[in-house]
Amino acid sequence: MSIGVRFAPSPTGYLHVGGLRTALYNYLYAKGEGGKIILRIEDTDQSRKVEDAVEQLMSAFDVMGIHFDESPKNEGNCGPYFQSQRLDLYKKHVDELVDKGLAYPCFCSSERLNALRKEKQALKLSTKYDRHCLSFTKDEIAKKCKSEPHVIRLKIPDSKSITFSDTVRNDVTFNTEEIDDQVLLKSDGFPTYHLANVVDDYHMGITHVIRGEEWLSSTPKHILLYNAFGWEAPQFAHVPLLLNPDKSKLSKRQGDVAVEDYLKKGILPEALINFVALLGWNPGDDREIFSMNELISEFSLERIHISGAVFNQEKLSWMNSQYLKELPLNKIVAYAKPFITLDVNTEDDKFNRTIDFARSRVSYLTEFDEEIKYFYTHDVHEHPDADILSEASSQSLFKFWVDELSKNDTWIPETLKALISKTNDELGIKGKDLFFPMRLAIYGECKGPDIPSIYNILGRDEIIARFNSVIKG
Ligand code: GLU
Repeated sequence: MSIGVRFAPSPTGYLHVGGLRTALYNYLYAKGEGGKIILRIEDTDQSRKVEDAVEQLMSAFDVMGIHFDESPKNEGNCGPYFQSQRLDLYKKHVDELVDKGLAYPCFCSSERLNALRKEKQALKLSTKYDRHCLSFTKDEIAKKCKSEPHVIRLKIPDSKSITFSDTVRNDVTFNTEEIDDQVLLKSDGFPTYHLANVVDDYHMGITHVIRGEEWLSSTPKHILLYNAFGWEAPQFAHVPLLLNPDKSKLSKRQGDVAVEDYLKKGILPEALINFVALLGWNPGDDREIFSMNELISEFSLERIHISGAVFNQEKLSWMNSQYLKELPLNKIVAYAKPFITLDVNTEDDKFNRTIDFARSRVSYLTEFDEEIKYFYTHDVHEHPDADILSEASSQSLFKFWVDELSKNDTWIPETLKALISKTNDELGIKGKDLFFPMRLAIYGECKGPDIPSIYNILGRDEIIARFNSVIKG
């Protein structure tokens, strides 16, 4: 049997980090099993339409390296699939259920339904629909259907409970006595989530439904629908909720929830993928850094936890710093460029050297500007410690270095230690008395990177020029 999974968001206009994790788990499972993953847009709620939502979603997935396939049963049509374009299919299946007596039209107005609910609430009775419309004859129904707005409801069979298997929680049992005759088709001809979801999962060859825990309570309704259609239900795996550090459900109020916001903040796609992969799954040991390919080979549904996963921003920041250090330099340079607001040439080798140096000192791409500015601007005269530049020992130190570097063009970062020792020997200047003025002169701060690193980025000529700019007379 070929594995088919799907990511099925409603088009909200952004990709929620929880959605990214759901999509990622589906993707990892499909790729690990040689199966297919499809993207299905659940856009049947016309009032919640957002302009360009799908384009934004697709571009976020592109950046994250998650690519979708065509449906195993829809050869040639590469998706994404839109439920709003499949209304005829849902109608056809609902008609079948009505013909078999497993679903029925309901003409009750919302006023009647509200009044009924209130009445039952007051009597502390179940607020389930009272099946008023089941009392009509066939002829009455046919007549009413032509002239009155109506919905189609599933006739929930009498049973006490329903049990289904969930890979994450084993067998799950729900009490079905309280399940209302679920509306399948709305009066505007659009399906409800439950109907469209089940019909599509069946038609699209979905073998495994991997989705957020918030959908767990919908699953008994889905099982009842599969039973009504006579279809085999897929295997379910409900992944745990994402939580704020205070264990409440992850919300905008306590931090960003959109993937796009994290990218704008300077989180690398590789780091975000790695981070969300570990929110609810672990490899069984204490390894934490995984590339997408490693995740594909390590991931298993059985290792998804039941308990909620805390979205820890510090951990994300730490993970990002690991990726900033470890990814190939050309990747980091490309990721950094759009974040640089300083007026610098981002195409030359100096920029590469600067980023290579700075990448181990930042946690976000947005911090590069602050870290690299010293290599692109040099205005030390206004510095609070500028006085040390004019001290006699500093001046002799600068002159000595300009002299040494000018007469010998073979100094390289690796040999500068020898020049530092020579300075000690000949001028008797060492330690703080050497490093503070020298660093202030060529870098712009008394404290900071070591002299060879600064020399490596700026090069001999610029170092000489910076010394000259602070030498008096
Ligand atoms: N449209 C639902 C959502 O927005 C899909 C839930 C499911 O995967 O069944 O998440």
